[in-house]
Amino acid sequence: MSATPDTPNAAIEHVDWIADWNRRESSLSRGPAGPRKIGSVGVIGAGMMGTAIAAAHVRYRLPVLIHDADAEVLGRAKTSIAAELDEAEGQFLCGSFGRFVRPTAALAEVARCDLVLESIVESVSVKLRLYRQLQRHLGEHTIVVSNTSTIPVQRLAGGLADASRFCGMHFCHPVRRRPLVEIVRGPQTSERTIAAAVAHVKRIARIPILVQDGPGFVVNRLLFPYLGEALELLREGTPIESIEEAAVKFGMAMGPLRLMDEIGLDTTLQAAWVLAAAFPERIVSSPLLVSMVKAGRLGRKTGAGFFSHPRSTAGDAQSTVDPAVGELLAPWISSSPRSAPETITWRLVLPMLLEATRILEEDKVRDVRDIDSAVLFGLGFPAKTEGLLRWADRLGAQRVVTLLQSLGAMGPRAEPTPMLRTLARTGGSFYGPPTDTP
Ligand code: NAD
Repeated sequence: MSATPDTPNAAIEHVDWIADWNRRESSLSRGPAGPRKIGSVGVIGAGMMGTAIAAAHVRYRLPVLIHDADAEVLGRAKTSIAAELDEAEGQFLCGSFGRFVRPTAALAEVARCDLVLESIVESVSVKLRLYRQLQRHLGEHTIVVSNTSTIPVQRLAGGLADASRFCGMHFCHPVRRRPLVEIVRGPQTSERTIAAAVAHVKRIARIPILVQDGPGFVVNRLLFPYLGEALELLREGTPIESIEEAAVKFGMAMGPLRLMDEIGLDTTLQAAWVLAAAFPERIVSSPLLVSMVKAGRLGRKTGAGFFSHPRSTAGDAQSTVDPAVGELLAPWISSSPRSAPETITWRLVLPMLLEATRILEEDKVRDVRDIDSAVLFGLGFPAKTEGLLRWADRLGAQRVVTLLQSLGAMGPRAEPTPMLRTLARTGGSFYGPPTDTP
């Protein structure tokens, strides 16, 4: 086990503005009355994310109480957490004598922790029901956070008596390799809660970005146009291999269909519903996803999604495109003219850029650097680009507009936003002209 396992180091070594980022964030975590130090952490939901988040705490010697409604899942929790760690450390920290992980079937016990981190299924009603149960036992100062990918904090806060001690704390998958955590400020979240949340994620060597509330926050608003376009390309008859190759050649850590398999196609679909309801003109919950979920092909967690994932083997290299998928999805697939590889790349990446401009137009982040942190440290966007907006600046806004105009098949999804049009007209850029400041 290395001293700083899976920390952002590999990802950040190319990014010279990280020092500046650190300066900005240290003022954030101070807050008006200083953050409340979090001494105990309870995680609710021992699924893929809950166990990975628990491991991220254990790695820094922060003990975790973990709870799940499913006794079988709870029974496996220690093993799942240990699997997220290196073997020796996993055995030491989570083994039968380990002090660092304690599974519990008692929700009341978790509710007494300083921080309760909810990571159960992505459903408003299920989360609200849990919060109402939790509410009966919550400590006077307990902070509750949700790892929801897409559901606005405001909608979930209704389940709790004191919404000032509630915010989003959205980790990215795979937690081992994606250090970004979105801290989502709901309308009633107090400054003190935000400060405590930011300080806490920094304690476990994560990169927090503070974002405003709204469906999909920032990370998933950027991700879903990419995933959605991949599904659309697939529906048009583009082979899975061509879509994946275009993304990987561009430098993405993973192609979009493989990423959906990793996230879980059920979770992807639930998140797509939330986003499609909020942004129906540009996000669709694809019938392809519905078919896959109905067929029980949920991705890596069930051993089969767009790819087959043999359980005996670990790692992406072993998973291959499953021919059965073609048959399953055939009723939905048309045979539109094939897109050139370069067109596939533009179709995957430019919708992310358009969404980034909408996020900026809506003031959901503090500045452009938060968008680039989100894509680099949360989404596996190629480090060599230094971020989506840096990449777009090098391309130039006018060229981006011209490229979008060439993607007629995408219809309104390729419509340049007012911000992009203004930059193209004025010759402006996202980062503005370089400054001489040292
Ligand atoms: P998962 O299906 O792997 O795990 C969910 C767990 O919640 C299951 O073990 C289930 O038994 C448990 N559960 C359901 N209802 C419960 C309740 N009332 N009380 C206690 N436990 C309950 O799902 P996941 O992928 O780990 O996602 C969990 C959350 O994390 C979701 O909100 C999801 O949107 C979010 N998230 C997921 C990803 C991803 O890539 N999968 C990334 C970031 C955030």
